[in-house]
Amino acid sequence: MSLPSGWEMVIGLEVHAQIHTRSKIFCACPTGFGGEANSRTCPVCLGMPGALPVLNRRVLEMTALLGLALGSRVALRSQLARKNYFYPDLPKGYQISQYDQPLCEGGAVEIPFEGGRRKIALTRIHIEEDAGKNIHLDGRSLVDLNRCGTALAEIVSEPDMRSPDEAREYLGRLRQLLLWLGISDGNMEEGSLRCDANVSVRHVGDTELGQRTELKNLNSFRAVAAALAFEAERQVAVLESGGKVEKVTLLWDAHEKRSRPLRGKEESKDYRYFPEPDLLPAGLSEGELSTLVAGLPASPLDRLDSLMENHDLDFYEADILTRERAMVDFFELLAEACGDSKAASRWMLGELARQLNDRVQNIEDLKLRPDSLAELIVLERDGKLSGLAAKSVLEKMLEEGGSANEWMERLDLAQLSDAGELANLVKSVLEANPKEVERYRGGRKKLFGFFVGEIMSATKGKADPKEVGRLLREGLDA
Ligand code: ADP
Ligand code: MG
Ligand code: ZN
Repeated sequence: MSLPSGWEMVIGLEVHAQIHTRSKIFCACPTGFGGEANSRTCPVCLGMPGALPVLNRRVLEMTALLGLALGSRVALRSQLARKNYFYPDLPKGYQISQYDQPLCEGGAVEIPFEGGRRKIALTRIHIEEDAGKNIHLDGRSLVDLNRCGTALAEIVSEPDMRSPDEAREYLGRLRQLLLWLGISDGNMEEGSLRCDANVSVRHVGDTELGQRTELKNLNSFRAVAAALAFEAERQVAVLESGGKVEKVTLLWDAHEKRSRPLRGKEESKDYRYFPEPDLLPAGLSEGELSTLVAGLPASPLDRLDSLMENHDLDFYEADILTRERAMVDFFELLAEACGDSKAASRWMLGELARQLNDRVQNIEDLKLRPDSLAELIVLERDGKLSGLAAKSVLEKMLEEGGSANEWMERLDLAQLSDAGELANLVKSVLEANPKEVERYRGGRKKLFGFFVGEIMSATKGKADPKEVGRLLREGLDA
């Protein structure tokens, strides 16, 4: 997509991530997707009068950890606030959120950009409770309050992005970090990661922001990018025909690939925010924060750079290998154990990825250890296993564990690569077929395949093909 020349897009994203905790943010009810409707509720999350919330400290810890990883300032004392509005899936008539004193301010999400990195600045990260779900079914409307009170972190960016691709990259890197730190499962389909996209357009060179609209109901990365492109084009068309962009909230229809007005955009004054009287100000001590800082793992992009520098991988390989922490940890152990980063990367991105995919298995719950895969890689490299045989050994190791050597023996797959033995074999095949040898030497080069075939059938396919080729050429061209 591209806007007519002279126009520029400005994008800011509000991302809601469900924080992975066992219980909800203000009560002991269990979290988790699904469950029999309204079974995971109590007077607190049902909003019964007089029921008092108690803050789950794990939510503070996880959100502070995210803030620290993103370089935000984490407040020692933040304030919870009531955001008042009525909706059937919000039984209290207000949502407990944060307003003027959020837990985290500032910071940035870094995205790879032209061989380096670009920072997308953050405004804030605050904690709040999720609402329930309205279900519209056969002309009836039902309410499921299981999700009510699930902990959320809301991550608000500055209007710092300039294209749908950049927005998509931002969202992808944020999701990667949430998983990396174990803060959220980042599942957009199940709604544990949700994104509202704000977009405006302006003439290139303008410094003031244009009027923005807000897009909701974006259930995938693709929807975010498509909705932004559509909406920016619509705004340009409105402005070019002399109209004015209204500040509205729009719903994205992924089916029709168009946005529809949902309601006028509410202002913060509409919500009558005030400090939550039932909860004390919330924060972690300096000691708790330093413990979190000390435990922060290296970031995905730092690990990516290190793979490119220390293992000579290209961006594409290093990027895939750092999608998950368990994956890059596995890779580094594997590369060290087999002494060959390129082979380690080729195996992990190729055959291992393919077999894991077939089995719908994750690298974390593997029976296969990095040093067993290293053993397999070395066996193949030294010509003791053919490429095909190595794949069958990998399959066995994934299924049942065990070492590569063990499986090679048990399946009788060892490749014949002993040079002396193979040389004798080549010699006897040539002696047994004098006519073919003569015709080959007379110019029928196609007969080369015939000799390879003879040797393979004599060894039940186990001869090392590279070595066979070399010896045959030696014998025939002598
Ligand atoms: P609200 O909560 O009412 O939606 P916020 O002030 O929290 O309002 O802003 C929400 C998002 O909108 C932020 O990510 C911000 O970067 C983005 N935003 C604000 N103004 C613009 C604009 N003119 N164009 C694009 N995005 C904008
Ligand atoms: Mg908003
Ligand atoms: Zn509850």
